[in-house]
Amino acid sequence: MSDCLFCKIIKKEIPAEVVYSNNVVTAFKDINPQAPTHILIIPNKHVADIHELSSENDCGEIMAAITKGIKEITDCEGIDESGFRVVTNKGTEAGQTVFHLHFHILGGREFRWPPG
Ligand code: AMP
Ligand code: ZN
Repeated sequence: MSDCLFCKIIKKEIPAEVVYSNNVVTAFKDINPQAPTHILIIPNKHVADIHELSSENDCGEIMAAITKGIKEITDCEGIDESGFRVVTNKGTEAGQTVFHLHFHILGGREFRWPPG
């Protein structure tokens, strides 16, 4: 998707602080962090959201890569023991603003439940 912000980050057309990447997923620091650790992990391929991902042939491969990435990133950030939160927003009511699937990895502070 040529006009997608996160596709542009994947193609290195706009800069990002990439912390983890392989041939399936890329993770980079959120530009407007909501916690001491706030990293986004995304599929390299354009998929709009988690709902759309379910009908992709490589859904399993992408989810496995995201799960593995979350493990490696949270270990590296030292938030594996203290705890962390993973969030994906789908659609406007959930607050999705970038329509390329991404999982927020948040840690380094206490979080409340339910979320606002
Ligand atoms: P969401 O509201 O769930 O769609 O999350 C989109 C996230 O992307 C927000 O937390 C933004 O701060 C973040 N974001 C937007 N533009 C950039 C960018 N250029 N680099 C890194 N993160 C970004
Ligand atoms: Zn995209």
